[in-house]
Amino acid sequence: MTPLQALQKYFGYNTFRHQQEAIIQHILNKQDVMALMPTGGGKSLCYQLPAVLLNGLTIVISPLIALMKDQVDSLNVSGIPAAFLNSAQTPDEQRLLVEKLRNNQVKLLYLAPERLFGNENKLVPFLKTLNVVQIAIDEAHCISQWGHDFRPEYLMLAQLKNEFPNVPVIALTATADKLTQKDILEKLNLHKPAVFVSSFNRANITYTVVPKKNSFKQLIAFLNERREESGIIYCLSRKSTEDLALDLKNAGFAAEAYHAGLNNETKAKNQEAFLRDDVKIIVATIAFGMGINKSNVRYVVHIDLPKNIEGYYQETGRAGRDGLASEALLLYSPGDAGKLQHFARIEGNEEQSRIMLNKLNDMVRYCQLQTCRRQYLMNYFDEAFPPNCGSCDVCLTEFKRFDGTLIAQKALSAVSRLNERFGVNYVIDFLRGSKNEKIREEHKQLKTYGIGADISKADWQRYIRELITMEYLQVTGDGYPVLKLTDQSALVLKGIQKVEFIETQVTEEHHTEAVPLHEAELLSRLKNARRDIAEGENVPAYIIVSDATLLEMATYLPQSLDELRLISGFGDVKLARYGRELLQPVKDYCKEKSLESKIAYKSAKRERKPKTERTRSPRSGTDTRSETFNLYRQGKNVMEIAAERGLSQVTIEGHLSHFVQTGDLDVNELVSEAKLHVILEALESYGAERLAPLKEVLGDAYTYGEIKAVISWMNKNQ
Ligand code: ADP
Ligand code: ZN
Repeated sequence: MTPLQALQKYFGYNTFRHQQEAIIQHILNKQDVMALMPTGGGKSLCYQLPAVLLNGLTIVISPLIALMKDQVDSLNVSGIPAAFLNSAQTPDEQRLLVEKLRNNQVKLLYLAPERLFGNENKLVPFLKTLNVVQIAIDEAHCISQWGHDFRPEYLMLAQLKNEFPNVPVIALTATADKLTQKDILEKLNLHKPAVFVSSFNRANITYTVVPKKNSFKQLIAFLNERREESGIIYCLSRKSTEDLALDLKNAGFAAEAYHAGLNNETKAKNQEAFLRDDVKIIVATIAFGMGINKSNVRYVVHIDLPKNIEGYYQETGRAGRDGLASEALLLYSPGDAGKLQHFARIEGNEEQSRIMLNKLNDMVRYCQLQTCRRQYLMNYFDEAFPPNCGSCDVCLTEFKRFDGTLIAQKALSAVSRLNERFGVNYVIDFLRGSKNEKIREEHKQLKTYGIGADISKADWQRYIRELITMEYLQVTGDGYPVLKLTDQSALVLKGIQKVEFIETQVTEEHHTEAVPLHEAELLSRLKNARRDIAEGENVPAYIIVSDATLLEMATYLPQSLDELRLISGFGDVKLARYGRELLQPVKDYCKEKSLESKIAYKSAKRERKPKTERTRSPRSGTDTRSETFNLYRQGKNVMEIAAERGLSQVTIEGHLSHFVQTGDLDVNELVSEAKLHVILEALESYGAERLAPLKEVLGDAYTYGEIKAVISWMNKNQ
């Protein structure tokens, strides 16, 4: 069986994501691998698929019991024999497991590191008597002190390569920073490892930051729109998680608190209820989440400012693991930044304090951005990204830029005149010619005094913030923050460098993005059916099938098991076990509403069927393109044409792009104006030679068809 066949048979997916295929090939060739992928990127599959293909046992090291249990349930539901060893098991249960391992009846064994190398047990000698074919180390950054989640017990894994020198090891993590990467490779002592780094962009998450005013009111407004969805709300303190959960409960939301100070029983209970969708909202400190694989978390809210970008990105990453559109909302107040500054200072450790403060500063800058938030995040993790993602609050807001050089010069000369010794508020009062007695007499005599009287205080605050972001001003000083010039200020003052400010104005149409046309009522019936199955199997609902799978069902309306097989997420075992039960609501619904299967669209969507396509008919290129174009002119869309002609959507889009290049078709018919600009920008940065990397940076909101159309349009204009 090839990896691709196994992917379809066991996991029900049609194509590999990111570099999954190459990673899997390395393991099959017995090479060590380190794989860095964002949360939700599909790391588990990188070792689960080789585990299925290889004849022997895969050991998976994982830090948390909750995580192990989730994975084991999930594998078993797909018919892959997996187990975990844990201290809560009775001697009888353990004996049974040992028996199964001896008989080669387990494909994946999950363990905590201390189980493997702790001194009280003799697990390694036993495992050596088995046919171990792969060792996977999940959350590998836990081995590094540089990481944000160091676990001393992970250090024991340094012995792995000595004990199992011929077994390929795969280390996986979602932590990107270079120092941690290096540390992982060294500590694990991997042999000529191949390192795979995927893009860390999470295209399906929309990032939004709003000023924090009345946080509870703001939160309720947000949650009211999402009553059926699951989400996580992060707070800084344990007490506020409990208070907020209580307030939300009183306001009629199914919410529970979670933090490290709760007793284990309560923690387990709340977590379990969340996994099973009995509780929709978890209000948590950062203690919550590492073990959470729940794929249908639709939103993550930070009600307090996170301490650094690393943590923020990881926490927001818990939304949307199923690939569906999800949201990250942060409520920002400068006051929070002040409070955190206080905590960031560690008595007697200047070096560490400086690092923490810098990280906090980067976080604050993120909140104050006037440019694409996704680009900032990606750049933070050393990844290039075009300046407009189309799906953060900044990009969804339309900008009018204007020449602000004069304004900038006024601000900079004021700072200079005041000898770079005063804070923002004083500088603004000075600029506005305030009569306030706080303004010193000698300053009132300066020519610059009052030169900015025509601009409101609020606007001045915004301009100065932007000047700081653009690094024409900086804030320094211990205790009392003071505005100072930078190396670049002189360029502005001398008129060499122009400065542009942004006037913000919200566009109304940003919700018009194409929403997939699914049957909403059917989707909710399918969720109920899934819930019944999950209760029978005693696992969380998303373990049975993901939300993305149900959404596809409610879109393409499969009528038979053969049609259901084409829905992403149904491997052979899941199809046999749950297919009929999940199909029934679809059939009933279609009967009631006189609807038919739309699965033809789905199969037309599948790419990569070159053979059948090429042997189809010897028609010339022009003919087949014209046929597509005629249908398009008759008012049919790409999907309809694809279905009618039995060709893939990608092919049809290619045909239409051709007519953009010949000038017969206006590019705006295929691509919206806003998207056109983003794609052009991406083309400028990355070139038009290869589509896949472009698609990767642009994300799911952009189709290959749109990218191709823009390239054709460019070719026409050149
Ligand atoms: P990670 O461990 O990297 O955070 P997971 O391994 O939990 O991510 O995968 C996230 C989700 O993506 C899971 O629901 C998984 O089944 C799904 N997934 C993984 N690989 C693919 C693929 N090739 N096609 C479709 N879905 C996939
Ligand atoms: Zn953006």
